[in-house]
Amino acid sequence: MTKFSLKNKVAIITGGGSGIGKAISLTFAQQGAKVHIMDYNIDAAQETVSEIKSAGENAVAHKCDVSNQKNVYEIIHHITKTEDIDILINNAGIAHVGNVEAVEEADLDRLYNVNIKGVYNCIKASIPSLKKGGGVILNLASIASSVGINDRFAYSMSKGAVLTMTYSIAKDYIADGIRCNCIAPGRVHTPFVDGFINKNYPGREKEMFEKLSKTQPIGRMGTTQEIADLVLFLCSDAAGFITGSNFPIDGGFVTLNGK
Ligand code: NAD
Repeated sequence: MTKFSLKNKVAIITGGGSGIGKAISLTFAQQGAKVHIMDYNIDAAQETVSEIKSAGENAVAHKCDVSNQKNVYEIIHHITKTEDIDILINNAGIAHVGNVEAVEEADLDRLYNVNIKGVYNCIKASIPSLKKGGGVILNLASIASSVGINDRFAYSMSKGAVLTMTYSIAKDYIADGIRCNCIAPGRVHTPFVDGFINKNYPGREKEMFEKLSKTQPIGRMGTTQEIADLVLFLCSDAAGFITGSNFPIDGGFVTLNGK
């Protein structure tokens, strides 16, 4: 048993079928949590669950679109009939590249629905259960929450809201023993990044991977495991004094670029 054990904890992880959410799901299960993955890509979620189960640990996959309140409520009500939720990880999110002129109304609505309303839906549905045991909420913000990034108008808008929702929830529920924090990753090497490079820079994949790596002063992208380990600490009892905080994990992007 480690210092950051999650033994007997029940965790909901949205977007646990891929990238950062998958690493968080595997890490939490290794530390003894029962993991509920809510992902609209049910095949990917099932794949994560299979990996967890083959290691002798506990997880369940639920097909869910976090932007659909009815869908979120049905799943969380179903879970809380038999279990109390200890941890909610709002990780599911989508990206968009473009400045304000390139963002169409439908793009803005889509980013709002998944990245903002999705977080609201999952928190609103989980709060009654989280209140019972003094739970933890951890949101995936971004460096784009607090600094200007080129061509990320809609994404930055949505991640700014994730940061301020974190403060609001932390304040409103501190008396209920709920801690709420967010993390702000720089570029992390996930299938999303590979897909972005393959789509936008065919034939120049290696060159672009290196270029994107160097935008972090530390000279590389983060790994999903590095993100999952910070999330593990923040959701463990060892972080009991931490609430209403935003944690950069960005290879120096926000504070060291240009210095
Ligand atoms: P990813 O694309 O690899 O995985 C996202 C997962 O969320 C997928 O399994 C997808 O099916 C699921 N998902 C998407 N929309 C959903 C919806 N409406 N309902 C349910 N599930 C949905 O992404 P990732 O790179 O691992 O990013 C995870 C989170 O971290 C996102 O919120 C992202 O904005 C944030 N983030 C990522 C990076 C990065 O560099 N990868 C940096 C900063 C922040």
